[in-house]
Amino acid sequence: MRKKKNYKTNYYRLTLQWIIVALLGYMVVRLFVDKSYHPDFEAYCPFGGMQALGSYLNTNSLACTMSTTQIMMGIALAIGVLLISKLFCSYICPIGIFTEWLGRIADRFKLRFDIGGIADKLLRSLKYALLFITIYFTVSSSELFCRQFDPYYAIFSGFDGDVTIAYAIPAILITIFGSFFIRQFWCKYLCPLGAAANIFAFAPVFVVLTLLYWAMVSLIGWQIHWAWYLGAVSPAGLLLEVWRRSGMYFPLMKITRHQDICTNCKICDKVCPYAIKVSEADAVKHIDCHMCVDCVVKCPEKGALTINRKPLRWLPAASVVILVVAGLFISAQWELPTIDMRWGSEAQFKNAKVYQQAGLKNVKCFGSSRAFAGQMQSVEGVLGVQTFVKGFRVKVFYDPEVIDERGIRQGIFNPVNWVLVEPPASLEQLHVVDIGIDRFFDTRDAFLLGELLKQNPGVFGLETYFGEPVHAKIYFDPIFADPAKLKSIIEQGSVTYTDHDQTFTERTPFKVEYIEPEIDAIDTREYLQKTFRPFNRSFNDYDTFAEEELSIYKLPFPEAIRQDKQSWFVFLMSHLSGHDGIVRMNVQWLDDTPVL
Ligand code: SF4
Ligand code: SF4
Repeated sequence: MRKKKNYKTNYYRLTLQWIIVALLGYMVVRLFVDKSYHPDFEAYCPFGGMQALGSYLNTNSLACTMSTTQIMMGIALAIGVLLISKLFCSYICPIGIFTEWLGRIADRFKLRFDIGGIADKLLRSLKYALLFITIYFTVSSSELFCRQFDPYYAIFSGFDGDVTIAYAIPAILITIFGSFFIRQFWCKYLCPLGAAANIFAFAPVFVVLTLLYWAMVSLIGWQIHWAWYLGAVSPAGLLLEVWRRSGMYFPLMKITRHQDICTNCKICDKVCPYAIKVSEADAVKHIDCHMCVDCVVKCPEKGALTINRKPLRWLPAASVVILVVAGLFISAQWELPTIDMRWGSEAQFKNAKVYQQAGLKNVKCFGSSRAFAGQMQSVEGVLGVQTFVKGFRVKVFYDPEVIDERGIRQGIFNPVNWVLVEPPASLEQLHVVDIGIDRFFDTRDAFLLGELLKQNPGVFGLETYFGEPVHAKIYFDPIFADPAKLKSIIEQGSVTYTDHDQTFTERTPFKVEYIEPEIDAIDTREYLQKTFRPFNRSFNDYDTFAEEELSIYKLPFPEAIRQDKQSWFVFLMSHLSGHDGIVRMNVQWLDDTPVL
């Protein structure tokens, strides 16, 4: 085993690395003890941000897996690369930290080696290929493609649904074994973010290629798919990396060696994670240098190594903190729209007004944003929408001569009529009370109110109508509940519920504005029939059969009383239509109960 050297510790870097490890540890531990905690382990990934930005520029929308925070982290990384170096890689990348520490263990047993020559050049092409593939498929599909194989995401998400096992397992094994035996294997050869960061260091070429593409598309009007631009940038980055081995003007800061102080002990070469020959350079311009300042801290001669000839060894770590805090702060103040859809004409937009509303919990991702836009498209006078899912906010563009703000709120509102819990057969009558509820906006609120109500025995149904406040009819058994109790349930403040074996807790800011004093009663079966929605679809060439050629199989279907079961009718129909002899599915209310 190699004899241990007593080099100074680089506390600047080690502190940030341990903070990241501690944060990840906290997230993992909390994940196990707090069922309502659902962390996004990639919420701050700058590479996710670059993919998100590409996707946004292409489609004017952000998928659920993408966020403004990621984009700000991507911009922070780019600024860091231009000014100082690949700071994210050096100080806070979880895979970078893990693989570097793994490599150090291998070093103790002299098991790690360097790859040089043509093999090194060829292997460096892998990360540019991964960069091209990842950005291409992300922008094409509007979903973060890197999640399919990213070893970090696969492990910390517990191989969730976005992970493709066939990609992720080999990626994890290659990363672990590669990093153990080969110096900086992940960062040098595989990491697409490392490739993107290097491209920023070749900024002049990157800018020229971008301007060329823009001129050809926007000025000349050529129809050139963005994939060609990506296909030019990625190999250009590779060629510059293997040919030059140094950035072009960037990063602006470099490790500088003072020959008059340096004793040529070569400790800096030994401690450099990339084994860069610091002792042979006046200024370290190597593309692999990520400004970790290990060489500066561990150099025994004070002042022999500096940054741009100044004692700034603290600056890279401080810059990481400043860039991350600035990125988080800006993304907290400002958010890109998840979707920005406009269907009104230019003339209509001249007089358009904007209605804004927050608290629409239903608008929580790309899919629900599209559904919201689809719903608003059918409202006369609405010209377009933008959604901002972080704050469940929407902007609605409308023609004030056709619709007013109340009309828009009505267009947003979706009434519901739900049986929350099936009443017992012995209960002949239900009582129903009208309650006005404020701070209630959309079906997500209806869902949460339904969860609140059904957790209390004796509450069976919920019906809502648009109004300000929203009108709600609540169906209950007077033995177990009364209006005062219903009020306290509605104003409870939060609700905990289970979905797919996961527990969630959400705030419920509802406020009861009025309770109608008159309480009605309704026959239980009549109520159930009133809420029941029949279903009738034909398939498999139903029309080609004469009525006498068909038989009808009837099956009592009492579960169909519940709306959550009714939403499964289409799946049942899809299943039945897979059998040639079945040509129609009809669920209707017959003889006091639903029948299939
Ligand atoms: S820069 Fe410092 S560590 Fe490197 S060779 Fe000179 S004295 Fe040794
Ligand atoms: S040259 Fe110095 S700052 Fe650059 S990677 Fe090597 S040890 Fe870190």
